[in-house]
Formats: sequence, structure tokens, C-alpha cells
Amino acid sequence: MDPFEETLRRLKESFNTGKTKPAKFRAEQLQSLGRFLQDNNKQLHDALAGDLGKLTKLSSAFIRKEPFGLVLIIAPWNYPLNLMIMPLVGAIAAGNCVVLKPSEISKNTEKVLAERLPQYLDQSCFAVVLGGPEETGQLLKHKFDYIFFTGSPRVGKIVMAAAAEHLTPVTLELGGKNPCYVDDSCDPQTVANCVAWFRYFNAGQTCVAPDYILCSQEMQERLVPALQNAITRFYGDNPQTSPNLGRIINQKHFKRLQGLLGCGRVAIGGQSDEGERYIAPTVLADVQETEAVMQEEIFGPILPLVTVRSLDETVELINRREKPLALYAFSKRSQVVKQVLARTSSGSFCGNDGFMHMTLSSLPFGGVGSSGMGRYHGKFSFDTFSNQRACLLSCPGMEELNDLRYPPYSPRNQQLLKWVLGSQSCTIL
Ligand code: NAD
Repeated sequence: MDPFEETLRRLKESFNTGKTKPAKFRAEQLQSLGRFLQDNNKQLHDALAGDLGKLTKLSSAFIRKEPFGLVLIIAPWNYPLNLMIMPLVGAIAAGNCVVLKPSEISKNTEKVLAERLPQYLDQSCFAVVLGGPEETGQLLKHKFDYIFFTGSPRVGKIVMAAAAEHLTPVTLELGGKNPCYVDDSCDPQTVANCVAWFRYFNAGQTCVAPDYILCSQEMQERLVPALQNAITRFYGDNPQTSPNLGRIINQKHFKRLQGLLGCGRVAIGGQSDEGERYIAPTVLADVQETEAVMQEEIFGPILPLVTVRSLDETVELINRREKPLALYAFSKRSQVVKQVLARTSSGSFCGNDGFMHMTLSSLPFGGVGSSGMGRYHGKFSFDTFSNQRACLLSCPGMEELNDLRYPPYSPRNQQLLKWVLGSQSCTIL
């Protein structure tokens, strides 16, 4: 019998009802917490006296943002330059030394980074190291002061386990399946243009790409011809000859994607060419949630359509899966978009557009749950690579006042202390 199971189940169930989210609930609970401290003042004092016993009066408090020290940045292959440089900017701005480990799969970028980048940076502070899984495993045995990893959830676990050995803090920028809800009020062509562009950009090898569409059966019937229009407009009648459509990074990923083309019903595309590692922009209709294409991040130019009967069913489907990196909702009714936002969780959210939210440096970028932890972009990058050191500078010459905090605690001293600490009623000693 697991002594925690029942409690954890009860709390998870409550969270899923959305009970803790309204501001009113939070305020009530915090007020109640305040009452607990007030009502039980004597018991708590006695308990603290029994256990410990100490007091604090602040003189001057501030946060000092200082560099962690030696940072490791590990990048993936899909945007091999951008995903190396963006975190590097934050790490340098915060004052760290950095070891950069590019992906061995995007080998041309890896080569340029290794050969050229060190010439532009102070080599006593910055280094590019090379290697695949084995070498990176070896690298991770060393102690770093911070690790910033971008890649798959599978390798994210390996990185986090290695970091745990040294209690090294991590940012994990991971992937997953990003749902895209389209309700019946939408103009199908507008949605199709947007989704097709974001899905097939970089041949679908984008972590924030809409991974699958959730819509009604009727909307599916209207979306398929609209998606066909968009694909033809973007890539011509034969997308294989289009200079605007990318290729799959390698044979392994090509084979994996080819295996997914058998899911659902091919409504558009479905062709592939192994010699060129070409997969046509593909739409799969009537896909079941249990099929292979719905089990893993697609990371390719394939778009499954999964039909749902209601907004409730959509929310339920999204919430029983891992929390996504990004979530999209299309509707002409702002209430619908707001409902999807309020009743789900994800690293980021965009209503009536694709991944434009990640182009804004005013918004933090990152995942939640299995899509990652930590945030960066803009000022958030600086904060991520900084240790927010909590500092207190006590004025010298306060000994007379400080004398109050030393035992023995006479009733008079306790009265005075109460008065001194009056403005900090939440200080728990
Ligand atoms: P990956 O996890 O296979 O590799 C990422 C890095 O980890 C590479 O540098 C690789 O050399 C290293 N690595 C691979 N196996 C390892 C091991 N066993 N031990 C230690 N290191 C290892 O990811 P990928 O295939 O390069 O990239 C695709 C994934 O990255 C997708 O899941 C995608 O969603 C995700 N991604 C996320 C973001 C984001 O910002 N959240 C951005 C781009 C890509």
C-alpha cells in the first residue's frame, strides 16, 4: 500500500478541475494562510522555540545577478546555428565562460562553428567541442555550473540525470507534439494557409510546428481542399521540384517518417523519394489517436487531422497527453480561443497564428513538463544564465538594536521585537 497515492491522486484531480486558477481562489487561500499564522501564533512560537529560535531585521537587501561560471550549451541539428548562438548571447551577456557542443548531425554547420567561431571569441573563455552521443556522455561527466540543452525529451533525461550527479542547474528546451485546434467558425482557407506554412517550413523539422490538427468532421472536409490549395500555391503542382521545400536531415529520419505515411488516410501528398530524402507535404485525414503518427513528435512534413466532437473533447484529449511546447487555437470567436488557453497548459500559446509568439523577445520561450524547463530569449536569456544572488548588507553600528535578538528573551524584549518587526508581519523566524 503506497501511503502517498491517495493524497497525490486527490490533489491532481483537483488541479485538473481548474479550481486553483481563479484569482479569487488564490486570494482566499492566501488570506486563510495568513489567518493560520495569526490564529496559531502561540503554538507556532512554542514550536519554533522548541525546534530552533532566531530573529532577523533587514538593513539593505538586493539581488545581485552574477554569472554561474562554466556553462555547457548543447544544440540540436534542426536550426543548428540559431539554437547555438541564441543561448550563447545570453551566456556571454551574463558573464559566463562557455563550452559549445553543436550537433554532429548537421555536420557542415558543426565544421564552420568549430573552425571559425573560436577565431572571433576569447579562446581562454569560449570553446567549441565536437562529438556525438558517446563523446557528449563523456563531456557530461564533468562538472559544469549550468547546462543549457536543446534537443529531444529522450536525451533531455540523459542530460538531466548527468547534471543531477553534480546538482548542476539545467535549462531543457525539448520537443513534443503541438496540438492545433480549429473550430467550426474559422475560414478554412485562412487557417490552411497559416498551418501549411508553419507545418512545412524547414520540411516540418521545427520544434514549435503545429504537429496535428483537432477539428470536427465537417471542418476536416473543408480543410482538406483548402490545404491542397495552400500547398499548391506555396510549392507548385510538383512540390519535389520546389526550391522552397526543404529535405529530411538524414536517412534515419527519412525512414522514420516514411513509416508514418501509412497512418489514417492519405488526403494530400504521401509521396517520398529516398535518394533525395524527399517527403511530399502530406495531410493524413481521419487519424486515430492510437496510431503511430500520434505517439511521437512528427518532425517532418506530415500533418494528421484528428476529428473531435466538441471543445470539451478537445481539451480532454490535450490534457491527457504530455504538456506541449506550443499550443495553437483558431477560431473567429475569441471566447473559444480564451477557453482553450484557460483550460490547458503548454510552454507557449498562440491564438489564430502559427509560431509568431517565439519571434518576440519580450516573451520568454521554453517548455513545461516533458517539453522542457526554463526560459530564454531577450532579457530572459540573461536571467537564465545568471545566478540571482540574494544579498543582505547589514549596517555596522546596529549592535544596540541587534542586542534585542539575543537571548534571554524577556517579556520586554519580546514586546520591542514585535514592534520592530511590525512592518514585516510575514517574517517567520
Ligand atoms: P537530440 O536530443 O537527438 O540531440 C541533441 C543534442 O544531444 C545533440 O547535440 C546530440 O549530439 C546530443 N546527444 C544525442 N544523443 C545523446 C546521448 N545519448 N547522450 C548525450 N548527448 C546526446 O535532438 P535532435 O534530434 O538533434 O533534435 C530534435 C529534437 O530537438 C526534437 O525533439 C525537437 O523538438 C527538439 N528541439 C527543441 C527545440 C526547443 O527550442 N525546444 C528547438 C529545436 C529542437
